[in-house]
Amino acid sequence: MSQCFGYGVTSADAPLTPMTFERRALNEDDVAIAIAYCGVCHSDAHQAHNDWHNTNYPLVPGHEIVGHVTAVGSAVTAFAVGDAVAVGCLVDSCLRCAACEGGEEQLCEKGPTGTYNARERNGDGFTRGGYAEHIVVRDRFVLKVPDGLDLRYAAPLLCAGITMWSPLRRFHAGPGKRVGIVGLGGLGHMGVKLAAALGAEVTMITTSPSKAADARALGADHVLLSNDRDAMKASRNRFDLLIDTIPNAHDVAPYLNLLGRNGVMVMVGAIDFIPPVHAGLLLQNHRSLAGSAIGGIAATQGLLEFCAEHQVLPQCELIPMQEINTAWERMQRNDIKYRFVIDMASLKAA
Ligand code: NAP
Ligand code: ZN
Repeated sequence: MSQCFGYGVTSADAPLTPMTFERRALNEDDVAIAIAYCGVCHSDAHQAHNDWHNTNYPLVPGHEIVGHVTAVGSAVTAFAVGDAVAVGCLVDSCLRCAACEGGEEQLCEKGPTGTYNARERNGDGFTRGGYAEHIVVRDRFVLKVPDGLDLRYAAPLLCAGITMWSPLRRFHAGPGKRVGIVGLGGLGHMGVKLAAALGAEVTMITTSPSKAADARALGADHVLLSNDRDAMKASRNRFDLLIDTIPNAHDVAPYLNLLGRNGVMVMVGAIDFIPPVHAGLLLQNHRSLAGSAIGGIAATQGLLEFCAEHQVLPQCELIPMQEINTAWERMQRNDIKYRFVIDMASLKAA
């Protein structure tokens, strides 16, 4: 065991405060990592506030982790002390079921182990995330940060990036495909950048007129205001793929109407009820409503390499750990441009 200093919450309505907790001793297949940066995901706040009714306190959030290896277990061959590495939303899975063997560890039939708030596979307490000095992770769930990818820009790729990359690839976003990204926040801005990099025709679908210029600068060909009824009507039947990142329960019917023939709408944002939808909306144009959860380890490694090669970089606002509560408040009132990343060097001052 080793003592670790970080920030966490002790109840659903408590702010993040400094706390000390234990990390497990290195198993033979573990990698110990000194965390340099950690991205701030809207899921961190959902989990802290117990929005999904399953939070174990104290909770240390953070699943967009990058840093350097400080020690490796005796059986680790792929990593050495000093390597630049990353950890996303997954730290373990059975590695034997069809999902794991198919590279979809996030869908592990025995249940994947999340980076925070998950029961450790040896039954020994709960995982704690990256708002902290260091972390110990099984080697198979550690990613390599490619040369040429600045560590701070790698952080948001580990959740926001892969959550968008996965459905973009699964539904073949590319030249000739009309892709709409719904919601310009952490996930949405990566969705626009990645869809544009893949060669798709990209539309940013937003509630915020003030974000139109940013959306275009990020790579959107068009901007559609979702609260402009006439514009939404004029865009009916136009899209092949929509990825919906809105964090709260909402009516999906206005978006389904935008899908053309064989169009697919993928829910990645709200983990909540979808208000009733008339089946006629799905029959028409042979539309599908799908879901997607983060992405597997090999796909995430592939994304890091794609982003390094094409320099597809998130737009990060770097903050010291001490400003995390303000960052969460800003995220919740939609004042975000477009991913907060915590500089862990600031922890030393805490
Ligand atoms: P975020 O940075 O807060 O961005 C969310 C965006 O959604 C906002 O910027 C806003 O964009 C739009 N929005 C917010 N409230 C809205 C409302 N009431 N109605 C319509 N649009 C609204 O959040 P994020 O980090 O991107 O995360 C988004 C969601 O994805 C969260 O719920 C998170 O838990 C979930 N998530 C899921 C996965 C997965 O595996 N499926 C992975 C990571 C995160 P505009 O101003 O452009 O409208
Ligand atoms: Zn996340």
